[in-house]
Amino acid sequence: MPKDCIFCKIVAGQIPCFKVYEDEHTLAFMDINPVNPGHCLVVPKIHAPNLFESEDAELARTMAAVRKVSRAVQKALNPYGLNLLQANGPGAAQSVFHLHIHIIPRERDDDLRMNWGLKAGNKDEIAKISEKIRD
Ligand code: 5GP
Ligand code: ZN
Repeated sequence: MPKDCIFCKIVAGQIPCFKVYEDEHTLAFMDINPVNPGHCLVVPKIHAPNLFESEDAELARTMAAVRKVSRAVQKALNPYGLNLLQANGPGAAQSVFHLHIHIIPRERDDDLRMNWGLKAGNKDEIAKISEKIRD
């Protein structure tokens, strides 16, 4: 694993996260700067920097996990809608260079744009929502 990759460190358990799902190939955890409540990320456990450099099989497994976690978010939070987002390169506002899919629950009139500034979330609130989704 690249030693400076924050998501590899989360996968390895070296950095804590609010985990909502894990299987042999993938990990899903809450985004620490949620754009809306319930915002979470799904990553393959094997490092790939982006979509272009990932293996088909890894991507397929990751997307299967994305659908599973999306269903859990839908059931737990019943959002107004739900978007998936995946950024490739700084020009697309990618800030962590380990492939990840954002699962973003939508709220009515949340005025969410494609790119947003990072704003630290409330950890207690994030933890509470992660429990709901994990269940
Ligand atoms: P990107 O901008 O690359 O599409 O998204 C990276 C996401 O990772 C951002 O939404 C950011 O909040 C999240 N993130 C960055 N560092 C950490 C971390 O240490 N823990 C968690 N849970 N999320 C992180
Ligand atoms: Zn990595």
